[in-house]
Amino acid sequence: MNINIDNIIRAINTVSNWINYLTGAGTPYPVGYNIICLTKRCNLRCKMCNIWQESSPNVDALNARLIAETISNSHILQRMPIVSFTGGEPFLRTDISEIMREIFNKTNIKKIVIATNGVLTNKIIKDLTEVLNKDSSVDKRIHIQISLDGIGDVHDRIRGVKGTFERVNSTIKKLKDLKAIYKNSLTIGILGIYQFENKNDFKSLYQYASDNNIDFGYGIIINTEYNKVETSEYNRDLLKTAIARTGLNGLEKNIKETLEGWLTAEQKIEKMQCFAGYNSVFWETNGDIYPCHNSSHLSSFKMGNILENDFDTIWKSRNANLVRQKVKNCTIKGDCMLGGCNISSQKVQYCIPHYLLKFLTAGRFDLYKHLGYY
Ligand code: SF4
Ligand code: SF4
Repeated sequence: MNINIDNIIRAINTVSNWINYLTGAGTPYPVGYNIICLTKRCNLRCKMCNIWQESSPNVDALNARLIAETISNSHILQRMPIVSFTGGEPFLRTDISEIMREIFNKTNIKKIVIATNGVLTNKIIKDLTEVLNKDSSVDKRIHIQISLDGIGDVHDRIRGVKGTFERVNSTIKKLKDLKAIYKNSLTIGILGIYQFENKNDFKSLYQYASDNNIDFGYGIIINTEYNKVETSEYNRDLLKTAIARTGLNGLEKNIKETLEGWLTAEQKIEKMQCFAGYNSVFWETNGDIYPCHNSSHLSSFKMGNILENDFDTIWKSRNANLVRQKVKNCTIKGDCMLGGCNISSQKVQYCIPHYLLKFLTAGRFDLYKHLGYY
């Protein structure tokens, strides 16, 4: 069992979140996701996302100083070691290296995760080099998570722009060169979203990640504000297809187990609790604070705005508590699959008893398995 100070703090915060969830007492501490949307602008035209069609994207109001000061002035956010950037395409921000440097210099954040479409090769390398050159001596890390849904034309078709795969491929090669210099400070991974258009290509994607010796993450397409087409019924069909495919069965065992876990959980989703707003927080480009990405189009889920109030005041406010009550009854549930991470949402809830029982039985008893999550 991996015991370190971050895990212990995470465990304590998880218990306190449970107590807050059940009784309303105390303050929840986000142990899951702290996600900042840096921009809604995007240079791709993906089939499963219409963020680029938004007629009046919000201004990118979150500058480097504001983000770093919001985190460093917050007792709550300072307890989270990881922050994630999303978009749109985060590297379209001209000041992204300044944002990273300010966060590393002024806050307790140890790791920044950036979700990118990987198309702006030169800018990505230039921005990262700038940050790593200055901060590589300290214990800070950057993880670049590149969206890749298929090899060659498959990826180009899904992403709506010809030549996208080649550009992503070139970015990955250059990132690997950079990693050779900054071994401990940079990690690289791809994230593939399983959908009808690539259901025959997931194995090649996995192979691509293995060949390049980079992390392979995967998710299943979900229904979000920016993707009105898909439904949970569609997801269920996809999951069944994925599990049934012999090619996928030949991949690592845990991929199949995770897909089965999603399917099981998806059937039970109405009974599952959502911990968004307790374990997770999402920053909109205009400074609005929401419990999760998927509710960020609903004004009734807005907790406050960091241009008007400091984060802790917002997080502890009566309004934030009212939003948390709405989260408990959120009707998006089935479509968002609890933020696309229903299994981890359940795992967070049960992690204390899970780890304790696993430890006491030397790994023989697995609570998640016992509860039927996989
Ligand atoms: S999925 Fe990502 S890369 Fe594609 S349009 Fe949406 S924000 Fe842009
Ligand atoms: S059910 Fe989904 S959309 Fe609703 S609050 Fe939870 S994660 Fe957000």
